[in-house]
Amino acid sequence: MSSNKKPKLGQNFLVDENACLHIAEALGDASARTVVEIGPGHGAITELLAARCRRLHCIEFDPALARELAFRFRNDDHVTVHHADILATDLKTMLGEEASLDVVGNLPYYITSDILLHLFGAAREGVVGRAVVMMQREVAERIAAGPGSSEYGALSAVTQMHARVTNLFTLPPSAFSPPPDVFSTVLRMEFAPRFAELGVEFEGFNRFLRASFAQKRKTLANNLRAAGYSPAELTAAWPETIALQARSEAVSLEAMAGLYRALEAARATEAR
Ligand code: SAM
Repeated sequence: MSSNKKPKLGQNFLVDENACLHIAEALGDASARTVVEIGPGHGAITELLAARCRRLHCIEFDPALARELAFRFRNDDHVTVHHADILATDLKTMLGEEASLDVVGNLPYYITSDILLHLFGAAREGVVGRAVVMMQREVAERIAAGPGSSEYGALSAVTQMHARVTNLFTLPPSAFSPPPDVFSTVLRMEFAPRFAELGVEFEGFNRFLRASFAQKRKTLANNLRAAGYSPAELTAAWPETIALQARSEAVSLEAMAGLYRALEAARATEAR
């Protein structure tokens, strides 16, 4: 039965055992990997992960749940439970000897975007290799959508600058207790940031993407004008590969990066 009362800290616990298994398996071979689980809760996925990986760090913000889990794994040296906020956790400290780690989480939905941005930051530092994360279906569909789809937006573009995204499967509210009001989708992200390849730096291109998608009903050119680019600047930099009236959702990341580079180059010349 669905309830209007939102559980605190996004606590909708997974009770579908098959789904727990699919999530753990979606990581692939983790036997030599360090895995970080975000929000382990009562540990529905934790046992399965612990059995599959070399080292497991669980990050749980609820003190009672963190205590419960720490007690459960008290005799298991390769599992560490941290009572911490994932957004305040520097994942690099968990790397140990390894080049990168994997992340798994049935995310607390109230901070999904913040957690993703936190993971992207870690991915740019080379700290995170793969992630298997569950989130609200609508958010997952937007993230996984490609250019040309009406679902494609700033979050899709920013995510796809950091990772290859695969939509794995969707679960109904009945897979959780208490059941949320929404369906949930599991995505796999294989991190491979594209900033160097596309010749753009993160801060500036991230701002450019946000400005480009600021108003979905406007064309890319109109969004950029609203962000302070003059018509003359846009005309001089506009590539043939982008239609003048194109909306941002129709433009590939490669073309978007090309336009950004041309605008930045013109401004740099102007400033000299
Ligand atoms: N993994 C469990 C499962 O699948 O049943 C619980 C998932 S539940 C959707 C989200 C979990 O994230 C809860 O245990 C909640 O306490 C925890 N959580 C919420 N905010 C958090 C934060 N900022 N940092 C770490 N954990 C958080």
